[in-house]
Amino acid sequence: MPDPALMLHAAYNTGMLLNSENATASRLRNVDMHCHSTVSDGVLAPAAVAARAKANGVALWALTDHDELSGIPEARAAAAALDLPYVPGVEISVTWAGQTVHIVGLQIDETSAELAGGLQATRSGRERRAREMSAQLAAAGIPGAYEGALKFVGNPDLIGRTHFARYIMELGICPDVNSVFKRYLIEGKPGFVPHRWATLGEAVRWIKAAGGVAVVAHPGRYKFGPLAHQEFFEAFKDLGGTAIEVLTGSHTVDQYAVYANLAKQYGFEVSQGSDFHGPGESRLDLGTLPTCPEGLVPVWRDW
Ligand code: AMP
Ligand code: MN
Ligand code: MN
Ligand code: MN
Repeated sequence: MPDPALMLHAAYNTGMLLNSENATASRLRNVDMHCHSTVSDGVLAPAAVAARAKANGVALWALTDHDELSGIPEARAAAAALDLPYVPGVEISVTWAGQTVHIVGLQIDETSAELAGGLQATRSGRERRAREMSAQLAAAGIPGAYEGALKFVGNPDLIGRTHFARYIMELGICPDVNSVFKRYLIEGKPGFVPHRWATLGEAVRWIKAAGGVAVVAHPGRYKFGPLAHQEFFEAFKDLGGTAIEVLTGSHTVDQYAVYANLAKQYGFEVSQGSDFHGPGESRLDLGTLPTCPEGLVPVWRDW
């Protein structure tokens, strides 16, 4: 005998929605709602990201630069010119239980003073962190990394680890960006400088204040123990978080199933995106995700 509470939960999750033709169409759309431009740590300008999304067959697109809204007007205008349905977005850096977690905000109003002010505060400190990273990298035998990273920075407010990784790769020390992270830039490695980002509560509050929905980005990347894992998703839900990413360039195929189940278990809607940063650098190109699994509620179903 199935547990009636669970049945209710499942009914809430899928509603009539996913039985309808509209729901299937919505699930099958080529949706890419997570990627980056030169406004944060991507290599293409917002309009060039829009053009690449369109060329790759994306049918609904959001640019989600880290902690920054200034690419949105260009992204929106480029998408309109390409007849590409567009969703304004952002990816907010959060510190939760000592770990960095990313929260994507979708359908945000970029003129929201609360969101803009919160992100400005989140960005501040990147410059000092970058100089500390540079000093530590110099001590580890890589001098001039701050100046080197700057060559890859499109937005001086948004200097980050990816820019350092591109510079160190250019030096020929590592074959790709990912191995630079592993050798120099992740916790415990010589170039890592701990940093306090926004709180989870702040990020969700700013997104909601801007009329948006909050989404846990690439949940499979966080190294939570089982207790913290549950605590994190419960906290996110209690704060008014809506969705988690299931299909993302940061997940393995096995993780697609794990997080599809987690979405059902907690009653989260789902989002998806390539997390594209640049040609040849990201694991997935724009618009190349598989189909959203059945039985999930796409956060984009009405968009
Ligand atoms: P930051 O906000 O400066 O700490 O940089 C975070 C960014 O670094 C992420 O958004 C990714 O683009 C990139 N990143 C983090 N870890 C890795 C990794 N292991 N390999 C490649 N890129 C990574
Ligand atoms: Mn990034
Ligand atoms: Mn991220
Ligand atoms: Mn991202």
